Amino acid sequence: MSRFWSALVNQLTPYVPGEQPKTDKLIKLNTNENPYPPSALAIQAMQAQANDKLRLYPDPESSDLKACIADYYKLKPEQVFIGNGSDEVLAHCFQALLNHHQPLLFPDITYSFYTVYSKLYQIEYQQIPLDDDFNIRLDNYKIANGGVIFANPNAPTGKLLSLETIDDFLQHNTDSVVVVDEAYIDFGGDSAIALVNKYPNLLVIQTLSKSRSLAGLRVGFAVGDSGLIEALERVKNSFNSYPMDRFSTAGAIAAFQDNNYFSAQCEKIINSRSWLNEQLLALGFSVAASKANFIFAEHKAINAELIAEGLRAKNIIVRHFKQPRIENYLRITIGTQIECERLVDELKAIVR
Ligand SMILES: *Cc1c(COP(=O)(O)O)cnc(C)c1O
Repeated sequence: MSRFWSALVNQLTPYVPGEQPKTDKLIKLNTNENPYPPSALAIQAMQAQANDKLRLYPDPESSDLKACIADYYKLKPEQVFIGNGSDEVLAHCFQALLNHHQPLLFPDITYSFYTVYSKLYQIEYQQIPLDDDFNIRLDNYKIANGGVIFANPNAPTGKLLSLETIDDFLQHNTDSVVVVDEAYIDFGGDSAIALVNKYPNLLVIQTLSKSRSLAGLRVGFAVGDSGLIEALERVKNSFNSYPMDRFSTAGAIAAFQDNNYFSAQCEKIINSRSWLNEQLLALGFSVAASKANFIFAEHKAINAELIAEGLRAKNIIVRHFKQPRIENYLRITIGTQIECERLVDELKAIVR
C-alpha cells in the first residue's frame, strides 16, 4: 500500500494464478495446461518469425489469424476478435459489453477472474448459486440483467451445459449480451459457436492455451455478431493496438492448420480423464462429471488440503480453492497417462 495509489487500486482484489514453480521436477496438475507439446508445425512457424522483420510492428488487425479462425468455424472475419490470451478478451468484454445499469449475472462458483474484472471496471454483479450437484441452472438467470457470463464447461467443476439448454436460454434473454467462455470446450462439449449467427447478443470466447497446448503464447479469441466484435475492437484500439505479436500470430495459424494433431491430443486427454475418473471413484472420491481437461473431486473421508499437501510432498501439485462450498474439493488437471498413473499411485498411499 502507498499513498500514491488511486482509490480504485486500493479496492482491487487481484486474481491469483496457480503456482508456476521454477523447477521441472514437479508433476504440474494445478493450472490446466496441456501436458502434450504444441503442434510441431506451430513451433516451426514461430521459429520462422525470428528474423529481421521483427523491427517492424505486426499487423494491428491480425487479419491472417482472423481469416484462419473465420474459415475454421465457417464465419466472416468481421465476426472474430483476437486478444492476448482469452483473459484479455474477457477483460475487453467486461468493459465493452457487460457494463450496464442492471447487474451482471454469473455463477457463484466459476472462473474467479469474473469478479476481478467486475471490480476493475466497477460493474455491479449478482452471483447465481450452482445447484447442489454443481450444475449451472440457466432458468435462474431469466431475471433482469445487464449481461450474463458463464464458462462452459464450467471451471473448476468441469460440468457441461448442452447446446439445447443454452439455445433455450438465449430465446428468453434477448436484451443483454450473453458471453460463453469456452476455454475447455474442445475436451468433449458442443460449442455455442454454432449459435452465433442465430443470436446477435451471443459472444463465444475460446483460447489456444488449453486444447492447443499454447498457454505460453497467449492467444484467445471471441466470435459473435460483427456489432459485438466492433465494440471489442474499439476498446482494444483504445488500449493496445498490437496485442498479437509476429510469433503468436504465426504459431496460432499453424496450430489451427494442424487439425489431426489437435484431435489426437484431445482424444488422449479424454481417455486419461475417464481412466482417472474410475480410479478416483475406486479410491473413495466423489467426482463431478467433467468434460474439461481436469477433474473436480472430493474424498469422502480425508480433507482436501491434507491430500494436496501429501501430493506436494511427492512432487505433484494440484489446485485447492479456499472458498465456501468447495473447500473440500481438489481440481486436478489431466496430465499424460503416465502422470495420471503416478498420481493414482501416490493417492493410494495417502488415502489408505
Ligand atoms: C484458462 C482459462 C481462461 C484463460 O485463458 P488464457 O487464454 O490463457 O488467458 C479463461 N477462462 C477460463 C474459464 C479458463 O479456465
